[in-house]
Amino acid sequence: MTAVTENLPKVICVARARIPTTQGPDIFLHLYANDRDNKEHLAIVFGEDIRSRSLFQKRPGETQRDRMVRGAYVGKLYPGRNIADEDDRLGLKLRFDEQTGTLITDPHTTWDGKVKDTLVRIHSECYTGETAWSARCDCGEQFDRAGRLIACDSELDTGIIGGAGHGVIVYLRQEGRGIGLGEKLKAYNLQDLGADTVQANLLLEHPVDGRDFSLGKAILIDLGIHNVRLLTNNPDKILQIEQPPLINCVERVAMVPLHWNSETSGIHSIEIEGYLTTKIERMGHLLQKPLQLHTKTTATTNES
Ligand SMILES: [Zn+2]
Repeated sequence: MTAVTENLPKVICVARARIPTTQGPDIFLHLYANDRDNKEHLAIVFGEDIRSRSLFQKRPGETQRDRMVRGAYVGKLYPGRNIADEDDRLGLKLRFDEQTGTLITDPHTTWDGKVKDTLVRIHSECYTGETAWSARCDCGEQFDRAGRLIACDSELDTGIIGGAGHGVIVYLRQEGRGIGLGEKLKAYNLQDLGADTVQANLLLEHPVDGRDFSLGKAILIDLGIHNVRLLTNNPDKILQIEQPPLINCVERVAMVPLHWNSETSGIHSIEIEGYLTTKIERMGHLLQKPLQLHTKTTATTNES
């Protein structure tokens, strides 16, 4: 293993479960533990065959039922099923290394993230934007859109190629760019008093952006994801995630705010305009059409 790997947090998937959604496809919610904090970071996985290596790893003394209960099964659960590693109805069987108990990436049962590109969003929790209908930021919009893009073949009005049902939203518990919800609420009051989002953090003696995406990267690696099409406008996120040979960011897919192109959709508020302007002018966010970073097959030109 390289030094890069040693610097990453250690993550282990504790449990996975199928969640039928109101939006269409089932998703598989993965809950992670790690060695850096006590928060319950998540991966929202589209595609039953994208598998956590730590979840599926064989553990001493466990039963097939233990494996099904924690979500380490192939195919679909049904009443009376008693083998986790094989779904006889769907004709799927997982393979493991006999010595180590490690899952073998078999194309019949397991997404090969080294061969295929995977559409990914690394999303930081935003209680206000996702749950409390806040129009101060576009986090809720970005979260919903990432799910729709991963589910679809391509987005009609932009032509962005979707994930066709395969992809991952890593959901990191770092509210308010890492300062926590209480401090974020104080920052909102400072914004109402005239500060912008960067100044407000500094007035509260917090970093402008205290987020750490290394947990997200460790989770993607655990899911066997290697070549990433990253849904983001944040250049810092690309820098933190991309670290060949572990993760290769083959494309950035821009998250253009919906209201820029539409009178009727997206978020319309005075606050969102200030928020986006600060992100672009003071935090260097890239808002433009999808940009090819570099690909596996052709020589590359663009490194920034
Ligand atoms: Zn937000």
